[in-house]
Formats: sequence, C-alpha cells, structure tokens
Amino acid sequence: MLDEIKIGFEIHEQLATRTKLFCNCSTNYRDSDPNSNICEICTGQPGAKPMAVNREALEGAITIAMMLGCEIKREIIFLRKHYDYPDLPNGYQRTSTPVGVNGELAGVKIWEVHLEEDPGKYDPITGKVDYNRCGVPLIEIVTAPDIRSPEQAREFLRELMKIFDYSNKTRKEGGTMRVDVNISISNQARVEIKNINSIKGVYKALKYEIMRQKNLIKRGLKIRRETRAFIEDQMITKPMRLKEYAEDYRYIPDPDVLPIKITEEFLEKIKKKLPETPKEKEKKLMLKYNLPEDVARVIASEYELAKVYEEVAKHVDARFAAYWIKDELKRVLEYNDLTFTQSGIKVEHLVELLKMIRNEEITAKVGKKIIEKMINNKKSPREIAKEHGLLNVISDENIVQKIVLEVINEHKKAVQDYLSGKKEAVNYLIGQVMKKTRGRVKPQIVLKYLNQYLKR
Ligand code: ZN
Ligand code: MN
Repeated sequence: MLDEIKIGFEIHEQLATRTKLFCNCSTNYRDSDPNSNICEICTGQPGAKPMAVNREALEGAITIAMMLGCEIKREIIFLRKHYDYPDLPNGYQRTSTPVGVNGELAGVKIWEVHLEEDPGKYDPITGKVDYNRCGVPLIEIVTAPDIRSPEQAREFLRELMKIFDYSNKTRKEGGTMRVDVNISISNQARVEIKNINSIKGVYKALKYEIMRQKNLIKRGLKIRRETRAFIEDQMITKPMRLKEYAEDYRYIPDPDVLPIKITEEFLEKIKKKLPETPKEKEKKLMLKYNLPEDVARVIASEYELAKVYEEVAKHVDARFAAYWIKDELKRVLEYNDLTFTQSGIKVEHLVELLKMIRNEEITAKVGKKIIEKMINNKKSPREIAKEHGLLNVISDENIVQKIVLEVINEHKKAVQDYLSGKKEAVNYLIGQVMKKTRGRVKPQIVLKYLNQYLKR
C-alpha cells in the first residue's frame, strides 16, 4: 500500500534484581562510586567464567512474557553478540534466545521476549568507563511492525509501561527504558532509530522521521537502510551508521553458559504468583464497583493507584471515591508530575478527606484545596483544614445570605450584565462569594440566594 507506515519496537528495560545476571555483584549502580560494584566476571577478566544465570531475572522475564500472553520456551541458551565498544569489556554482550514468543498487547504482536546483560557506561569525552551497570539484567521485547502511527506507538508504550508496573519485576526508579524503533514507509528500506529513552522521545522521533522519509519519497529518492540517532534537544534524527545485519554481530552460543531447562514446576510456581494485568484490573473494577470504563481505566492505569482505590472503597462510597480519585487526585498528581507512590499521600489520609466531604464537614471545593496540600505532607487533612481555616462549612443560611448581598452590592457591573441577559455573569458572582468564604459554602445555596435577589 502506498504511504503505509510500519513501525516496530525493540524495548529494553532493567529487571529489578539484587544481583547481576551472571555474578553476585550488586545491581545498584546509581548511588555507588564508579567501578565499586564489579568483579572479574562482569568486567570480563581473562579466565573468569559466568555463574549460573540469575534465577530472579529469569523469573522476571518469564512473568512479563506470560503477562504479554507469550508462549514460554522450555529451553533457553545464551548467545554472544559481538561488537567493539569500551562499555563492553568482553567484546560481546550475552543475550538469550527467546524466553517467550507470540504474545500480544494492545493489538500489537509481540514477536519475542528475551534476557540480556546491560553494558557499562562509557563517557566519550573523558574516556572513562564505569562498569557498575555492566551485567545488570535487561529484558528485551521485540514487536512485529504492527504499529501504524506515532500516536499508536505512544499508546502501545504506555500499555507496556503499565504491564511493567503491574509485574513488579522491573526497576521502579524510572528512566531505565531504552527503545529502538524501526520504521518503513511504502515498503521502502527500514530505518532504525536507536536508544530513545522516553515515550515522548519515541513520539517526537517518529513524527520527525515520517516527515523526513515522506519528503525523500516525494522527491523520488530512495530511503537508505540505516541506523539513526535521536537528538533529543533538537527533536530530530541524525544518521549514525549504515544498518548492521545480524551476521555483523557474529552470534555464537556462549559455551560458558549451560542451556537452561524450564521445568513445569518452575512455570507453575510463576503462574501461581502471576499478577493481574492492567486490563484484568480494569474489568474487575468495572464489575465489582460498578464503575464506567473510562473511570476504571484511569484508576487501573497505575498499580499502586488501583490498590489505593480498592482500599479506600472499603471505607467510602465506591463510586464517589472513584470519581474523586479519577478527577481530583489524578489532577494533583499530574500537575506535580508524580505517581501516587511518589506523592507520599497516605491511604488513611485520603479516606479521612473523602469522609469529611461526604459528611459535609467541608465542601467539595475545600476538599480540592486540601488534596493539593497533601503532597508529601505528614499532616492529616483535618489538620491541614484547621491550619488554613477551612474546616467549617458555613451552614447558617443567614450568614450566606448576608455575604451574597455584600457581593451583589460590591459587583454592580456583573449584576447589570446579568440583568441585561448575560446569564453567565452569575458564575462570576458565585466565584466572588466563594472567594469571600474560602469555598466554605455550598454553591447550591449561594445560587439559591443569588437567584432570589437578582429576580428583584
Ligand atoms: Zn560482577
Ligand atoms: Mn538488545
């Protein structure tokens, strides 16, 4: 088909294990001095032999492969993938044959899931290498070129991140994903863009690459098969090298690593502990709490958030809590660019806040203010409300009436506008009452009195 876009991925993510893939060195490379978590094995000293493959890593890869609906392979071997770069002391990277094949996620076929070891970190400017990361287990997921647009690519990666999150097998700090994207248009040569480390980066790189390739095709030029780099700060891709072919890597089975047999018992053990997928969680929320799909989807988007919701729903009306979490809690988290876990908000504080709103101790409006102040705050919502003088709802309607009259007298222009037919001016007046009372009255009561006075 003319202009048909085909996009496929190779996605790398670090597995959350204590030790490296073939040795007992710690995988903590972030808060350690350079080259402090290394040994003969992970720095490829002459004669050093790898230990048996890390079981935790193997279990992590199988868990994720199962969650992606893959068929699990019963025998896995490790291959040596050769290339020369200072971050790779052996001169080859150990990479496994598929752990799982033929999965599916969000309508995209998963070709395979396998294990490999992360290289170290090389700084081309100083020439220094830090081998702490060398040998950290990675999972690699290879998709079919089933994706047709940058938007779909973004959606797929978001779904995959949710799977990682729910699996509890990948590192939680974030920023460890590395994506290689391949893209072809109109059956021309496939171009690969290497080492993109965010979903936004993937989206921008694809947008740019599609434009670049379409321009070449329009001018009657051929697309070269090549590998390109994404230059994040300029949002463009640049040629790196002509595409290497599999034979360039001189893959050979690693004679130092014994073939791994996956037994039925091992698989059964993993199956028993297999986490729900985000999709399953979404369905469960819809059924158990009678939530609409869009609400269930937002709550299931983060494992921790779904867990929190189910806890909160034990104490507060489930539908009320769901909408509140979807609209208000999510708003505050997104504004601060935090996950629920990072927000430091305690479940019992959330329950307390929602109860205060339900019991009409505070208005919904005040509730929205309080949740904003709950990020990384040890104080309870009640303490926060007290501290800011937000606690009491003004329920004495005489007081409300008096304030409404004040506002009417102070905002003659808005009143005129309203009387001359601009009905939306009433919202401005409600806003003024809210400002005076710091949101401690119910909008319905304000509206009642406003209507009464404005009719005269
Ligand atoms: Zn080591
Ligand atoms: Mn790889």
